[in-house]
Amino acid sequence: MRMTAWLKSPGIFSNSLRRNPAESAPYAVWERSRCLDILEDITKGKGKMEDLQTLEDLAEDIKQGSLCGLGRTAPNPVLTTLRYFREEYEAHIKEGRCPAKMCQTLIAYYILPEKCARGCDACVGTCTVEAISTDKKRRIKVIDQEKCVKCNTCLVACPPQYDAVIRLSPPDQLNKAIPNVKAQGSNETQSSNDKT
Ligand code: SF4
Ligand code: SF4
Repeated sequence: MRMTAWLKSPGIFSNSLRRNPAESAPYAVWERSRCLDILEDITKGKGKMEDLQTLEDLAEDIKQGSLCGLGRTAPNPVLTTLRYFREEYEAHIKEGRCPAKMCQTLIAYYILPEKCARGCDACVGTCTVEAISTDKKRRIKVIDQEKCVKCNTCLVACPPQYDAVIRLSPPDQLNKAIPNVKAQGSNETQSSNDKT
């Protein structure tokens, strides 16, 4: 399981730091809160490399400062992911990229015009914020990046024979490859369609 998947798993990761504060020493409660703040920043692309060392130090402090077994094991997911998925933390911090494409701030959705069937409209009907429309001039489906809430629904709704919706990370990946593209995809991008 990858770093971000752990982070997004409520029963495994962040909740392990939130649970049973009353059973821990007061400073361990503060350390947990600080850990969660740092993790939150990393998932939003606001992390710094020195945060990784801070996380390790905080996790060790939590272990030492907790009065019960539950508290002592709370930081284990942090330590485990830092050990085995460190490159994913670094991708978030250095590149603003979420390798698992799960951190909402670090992803964007696009529709590949050359794969889109255009007339099927399955994605349009499922988007609750009406972010998908037809660009009549270019006769392609486009996603308004300002409106999109990154719910993944259109990617799932697009019929598998087309697979025209892609999820990118970092969000500006496509714009960097094709500077004039603002809200539309292209087959020059190698991102996969993860229907999760
Ligand atoms: S990800 Fe969700 S909000 Fe964004 S375009 Fe697709 S369906 Fe609409
Ligand atoms: S569901 Fe897929 S194929 Fe259909 S219009 Fe939307 S992007 Fe195109």
